[in-house]
Order: sequence, then C-alpha cells, then structure tokens
Amino acid sequence: MIYDLIIVGGGPIGIACGLEAQKQGLKYLIIEKGCIVNSLYHYPEGMTFFSTSDKLEIDDIPFISKNAKPYKSEALEYYRRIVTNKSLNINLFEKVTLLKKTNGQFRVQTDIAQYATNNLVLATGFYDIPNLLNVPGEGLTKVKHYYDNAHYYAQQKIIVVGANNSAVDAALEIYRKGGDVTMIIRGEGIGKRVKYWAKPDIENRIKEGSIKAYYNSTIEEIKDKEVIISTRDGKIKLDNDYVLALTGYQPNFSFLEAIGVELSTDGKKIPNYDPNTMETNVNGLFLAGVVCGGMETHKWFIENSRVHPEMIMNTILKKKKQLV
Ligand code: FAD
Repeated sequence: MIYDLIIVGGGPIGIACGLEAQKQGLKYLIIEKGCIVNSLYHYPEGMTFFSTSDKLEIDDIPFISKNAKPYKSEALEYYRRIVTNKSLNINLFEKVTLLKKTNGQFRVQTDIAQYATNNLVLATGFYDIPNLLNVPGEGLTKVKHYYDNAHYYAQQKIIVVGANNSAVDAALEIYRKGGDVTMIIRGEGIGKRVKYWAKPDIENRIKEGSIKAYYNSTIEEIKDKEVIISTRDGKIKLDNDYVLALTGYQPNFSFLEAIGVELSTDGKKIPNYDPNTMETNVNGLFLAGVVCGGMETHKWFIENSRVHPEMIMNTILKKKKQLV
C-alpha cells in the first residue's frame, strides 16, 4: 500500500492536515508518537490559551469554550472529538524513527512498522526538545524543563529560569501555592511577549518582593541543595530545592537534516521551504505548523499555521493530477 501522504505528528496542525486530506479524498495516515495532541496534553495542568477559542478552530469546526480563552482541558476535548467524530486515520503511540527517500518515494520507519508514501508532511512541532542551560548539575532530577502543577512546589525553594510566558506563569502559580520563588533572568526585564494580563502581575510581585528576581544573571552551577548564579555584582549562592528551566524548546533539527531539509546558517536554523506551498527543498516533503519556524518558535502557533494544511493538500492534488 502506497499512501498519497503520511503526516508525522498528531498535534492540532497534523490533525488539520489529516482532515484536509480526508476531505480531498487522499490516501493518508497520521502517525503520532504519543496521545492525540500529545504536546498540548503535556502543557501545564490548568493553563488557559492566549488565543480565543475561535482562533484555535480547524476546518471551521466550532470550538465552544466557557470563557473567550479556553482551558487546556477544553482544547483536549475539542481536538479529541474531531479525531474520533471524523474517524481520522491516525496511529497513536507509534514513533517515527527514520525517514528515507528512494526512487521518488518516502519510506517511513516507525518503532513497529514501515510505510511507503509519495508525499510526507512533517508536523512534529517543537515541544519535545528543551533548550538546555548547559551547566554542571543540569542532569540532577531536581532540574525540570517542563512545568505541570504548582502544588508539588509548595513550601519549597524554587528557581525559575526564563522570563517569557511559561516562566512567568509558573512563577506566579507556584508563588500563589506557597512556593518561595526566585527568577533568574538573562535580560534586563520580563519578556516583551508575555501576555498583557500576566506582565503587570509578575512585575508588581517582583517590585513588592513577593517573588525575587535577578536580572542580567545566569546559572553557573546546580548542586543538590544550592545553585550558583552569575550576576553583574559577581557570583551568588542561593539555597534551592528545585530548578525549573523554562527557557523554550526547539524543533528536532537532526530529523529534518537527516532527510535532506536545508536549514539556514544564520543561527536561526530556518528550514528551506516555499511559503506558498510549504514544500521543502526535498520534493514531496512538506512542513506544517510550528516546525517550520526553526529557532524562532514564537513566530508560529496554531492561530497562524492553521492555513498550512489547505496549502499542502492543494499542492499534492495538483501534483497528482499532473501525473495522471
Ligand atoms: P505540536 O502540537 O507540538 O504537535 C507535534 C506532534 O508531533 C506532537 O504531538 C508530538 O508528539 C508529535 N511527534 C513529534 N515527533 C514525532 C515522531 N518522531 N513520531 C511521531 N510523532 C511525533 N498557540 C496558539 O495559537 N494559541 C495559544 O494560545 C497558545 N498557547 C500556548 C501555550 C503554551 C504553554 C505553549 C507551550 C504553546 C502555546 N501555543 C499556542 C503554541 C501551540 O500550542 C503550538 O503552536 C501548537 O501545538 C503547534 O501545533 P503543531 O501541530 O504544529 O505541533
């Protein structure tokens, strides 16, 4: 069996690609290494999206939420209902391990099977690979790159590294559940892209001293019960129980490079693709969703990448017609 397309990744955009392929009568398969919308499932427990629910809709299927900005649980419900109600062809808990192109066709190797397809869509997101601090002690179990729930950190000394949305949300929530929070921030202040309702909240908590913050500072070393930081005034030793390094994530670049996708060499690692079709420099290989942003992961999100599936399917259909 040779598919018209295989979609790697069952996030919101991979699912939207499956919906579009199904509508166009293409032979498709989505392969997802975890559960449905696996990245969203691993977002912090009580989070709300910064987008209103209508902006997270795919294929014009209404997303009804209690408030304008939906909770994670509502988004899980929405995307899950689409997958089940539309009977999308999706294999869950199957990881794509190797991609190869031979004689114009792609071989997709997973941890349990091998597939052949004429076109390949990579919708693998960026949430699997955290940007590391690269300091001694980062491997200790007390260092986390993902934040889930504040309860765990009550009455503990927490260092939150970073100053963007994830770090700010975690710092505020943990402080409000009785954690002793210190933020270590590389720049001069809280990130410019932090949600407009969270920014004054965190800045005021820092100003009043409820949350401590060291600006222009970085972590030097993490030990069992303390952390050494480097500041403009020299090194400082802080007592510490847990470190939450919330410094962002990056796409799986080696996965892209292994199949021949070129990346820009300016440090941003932007993949080489045509923005009108989403096709990469590898004929028949498309990118969808946030994976196309390279290191600039803030540029793409569900809201603005929902258009990718239609662009991709139109291109695949056009190619298919040319072959007939
Ligand atoms: P993902 O959702 O990351 O999906 C990629 C999928 O690929 C994952 O399920 C992963 O398991 C799978 N995968 C990866 N590698 C493999 C493999 N080898 N084999 C099989 N499967 C694989 N965006 C908005 O528009 N509005 C918001 O309000 C918003 N809020 C956010 C809040 C937080 C805390 C975060 C972290 C992000 C937020 N975003 C928001 C961004 C948004 O969630 C992402 O842009 C979105 O998930 C992108 O969808 P995607 O399908 O491209 O990637």
